[in-house]
Amino acid sequence: MKEFQTILKILQARLRGDVEQLQEEAFSGTEAGNDQRSSNHMAEMGSDAWDLDFSLQLVECDQGVLEEISHALKKIDTGVYGLCEVCVQQGKPDTKSKIPKARLMAIPHARNCIECERVKENGR
Ligand SMILES: [Zn+2]
Repeated sequence: MKEFQTILKILQARLRGDVEQLQEEAFSGTEAGNDQRSSNHMAEMGSDAWDLDFSLQLVECDQGVLEEISHALKKIDTGVYGLCEVCVQQGKPDTKSKIPKARLMAIPHARNCIECERVKENGR
């Protein structure tokens, strides 16, 4: 999940407006020793292109997204990143609560799996 941490940090920086500085940090690995490794990992995934495009789209979004990103970073810290919060609340085991990676690549700060998100939207 390290690559998502890097992506989320970059997105967060972009949204805050201090893009270049943070991006440099994330890729040069000055702050934490393992940032360097995750940027290499991202390159291996061939993901440099998609996350840039995606971030640019995100910039139009508002404060809400920034909060979602902070929340996702906290989930990484606590080791629950990539798990659907609704599924976990319903008591499903971690293996059944995973948000598909494809969804995380589209929405790195997603809190819920597709099914729960759908239920949530219908329930409004
Ligand atoms: Zn779910």
